[in-house]
Order: sequence, then structure tokens, then C-alpha cells
Amino acid sequence: MTPDLLHIDGSQGEGGGQILRSALALSMALGRPFRITGIRANRPKPGLMRQHLTAVHAAAEICSARVQGAAPASRELSFIPGPIRAGDYHFAVGTAGSTTLVLQAILPALLVAPGPSSVVVEGGTHARWAPPFEFLEGALLPVLNRMGHCVQARLERHGFYPAGGGRIRVDIAPAQAPTPLRLESRGQVRSRTAAILLSKLPFDIAERELSAIRDALGWEVGPTNVQTLHNAPSPGNCVTLRLECEHVTEVFCALGELGKPASAVADEATDAAREYLAAEAPVGRHLADQLMVPLAIAAARGAGECSFLSLPFTAHSHTNSGVVAAFMGREPSTRRLGRLVRWSVNDYASLPPTRPTE
Ligand code: ATP
Repeated sequence: MTPDLLHIDGSQGEGGGQILRSALALSMALGRPFRITGIRANRPKPGLMRQHLTAVHAAAEICSARVQGAAPASRELSFIPGPIRAGDYHFAVGTAGSTTLVLQAILPALLVAPGPSSVVVEGGTHARWAPPFEFLEGALLPVLNRMGHCVQARLERHGFYPAGGGRIRVDIAPAQAPTPLRLESRGQVRSRTAAILLSKLPFDIAERELSAIRDALGWEVGPTNVQTLHNAPSPGNCVTLRLECEHVTEVFCALGELGKPASAVADEATDAAREYLAAEAPVGRHLADQLMVPLAIAAARGAGECSFLSLPFTAHSHTNSGVVAAFMGREPSTRRLGRLVRWSVNDYASLPPTRPTE
């Protein structure tokens, strides 16, 4: 019997790849089949690209899904999930497409798997418009682990645009019963650290970035904050600022690009860190959209109310909250508190199960 497919409009809001990744994750974890149209309609090259196709194939492998439409540039896809299997997985994007974005589609589901898993993803580890590895490891995973999971990530090889060639390994031991997450204050800032990655580029780039960090934030940084890489296949540069607070760690990264001045790379990271420090919220702009799917799934498994207080929502956050609402059949609560936003999900455990029967 063909189950009813939930329709997801891939052109809504941000209209990017995240709508697909969130839909895959929610579909797998909740056992809810879906059909998405207008995939990445708001992007210059719409439809499925390598990173998105890798995510679809990875999701399908993990839950033995029946999939239609998984082809390059496809703008429509249907996905009928089966049971999630814990195990050892290996996926390769084949380009500098983001490894962490592939993970975004599958990690929430592996957090509800019946046992531990180990996932290797090859591709870009520091890709534009995607979470750099440092953000995954330093900001996102510690929050998920506070719910009782044990997820550890290792960067085995850096992969920058355009060559890619990076590799991350993520070991996932899911909590049997996740505890609710309430992330509503950040507490005292305990440490501030800066790290600059430099691959096959002149050292004076890092010096200019250090100087910009000193000027903008007054942090004491020097050459010991620079890591020079020798084994990445292409040149690359990433500035990472890490704020370890009592209740959360936030990480702000900016990537170097051909033609982008070093000072502009550093400014991108320092502006984000300054905005965060000036606001009284624990969750920054990127962490906000990336927490929604795992929190909604935890709430659906009976964890109770999960909530966070964040900086103003990005288009990604508004859109992702809409994808959660479509799968859950109920809007998450989104309350403005001045410039800040309190987002919460509750009562999802009372919704009827959706996993299709054979
Ligand atoms: P598309 O391929 O459609 O252009 P995409 O697949 O690259 O899009 P988006 O839909 O744009 O993906 O989503 C990007 C994701 O990467 C979001 O979850 C966003 O929060 C995250 N992200 C982007 N930049 C950063 C950053 N500097 N730090 C952390 N996360 C980031």
C-alpha cells in the first residue's frame, strides 16, 4: 500500500537545501513519508546538487527508504522511510560539498536509532554557507549531548573549496530517553579563544586576521593561535572565534576566499561574536536553525518541553520552524522578547505515530 505523502514546498521561505535536509531528518525519525517539490527553488542553480544527493542517498541507506526523484538537478523527490538502522556508514560527496550538511540530514535520525553508529563523510569540511567543522564540534554537538546523547566528531582531513577531499568521523551513542533541553540563558563567559587555519597560503594573511581580531575585540592573540596545515589538497583559510559560556559554547567562523581581504574575513567573525556578546541570548543565529529539528524530534519522543532563546531569527530559522510545523502538524511556539526570540516545542509526544505499516 502506498502511504499518504506529506507535501513539503521546497520553495517556501529561504527556499534552499535545508528544507530538504530537515524534511529527510524528520521523515526518518518520525517514520513519516513525504514528497518535496520546488527543491532549492530560490538558488541560482535549483534542484539537487551533489551534497543534497549524497544526503538523500545517505538517509535512504540508513532507513531503507523507497525514493523517487533522486537525480542531479531534480526538483521533486518522494521519500518513504523504513526503520532506522544503527551501524557503520561511509558517504562521500565527491566534491567540496559540505560534509556537515550531509550530517544535518542524518544525525537527528541516528539519535533515535536502536544502537550506536559511526559515520564517515568525505567532502568539504570548510564550505561556504555551511557549518564549518569547528561549529559542529564546538557548538552544536555539546548542546545535543546535554540531552543525554554522546556524539563525538573528529576532523580526519581538512577539505576546502574547490578540491574538497576532507573527511569527518562522527560516533553517535543515542540517549535511550532524551532529557529536555532548556537553553534560555548563557551565564558568564568563561573563555574566549581565536583560531586561524591556514593551508597553502602566505602567513601574512593570518597576521592581518590576528591584527583585526585584536582591534575589534581586544583579545590577546598571536602566532600561537594559527594552525598551518600541510595535508589539505587546496588552499584554505578559516577564522574561528569561540566563546565558552557557563551554559553554552558558541562558535563563529568565517572562511577566506579568493579576492576577499583577510581583514574582511576576520571582520565577519568578529562582527558575529560582537553581536552575540551584546545580546543576552545563549543561542546564536546559526545554532538556532540547527537545533530545531533535533529538539522537535526529542519532544516527539516524550522528552517534554524543549526551548531556547536566540538572537533574531534568520530566514533559515523561520523556514526551518515551518518545516517542523509541517511534519508535526502543530506550530512550534515562537515568541518575540524584544529583539530576541524564544522558540519552544511541547506536547509532540501526544501526536499519533506516523510510521507506515508494511
Ligand atoms: P543551497 O545548497 O540550497 O545553497 P545549502 O544546502 O548550502 O543551500 P542552506 O539551506 O543555505 O544550505 O543552509 C545552510 C546551513 O548552514 C544552515 O543550517 C546554516 O545555519 C548553516 N551555516 C551557514 N553558515 C554557517 C556558519 N558560518 N556557521 C555555522 N553554520 C552555518
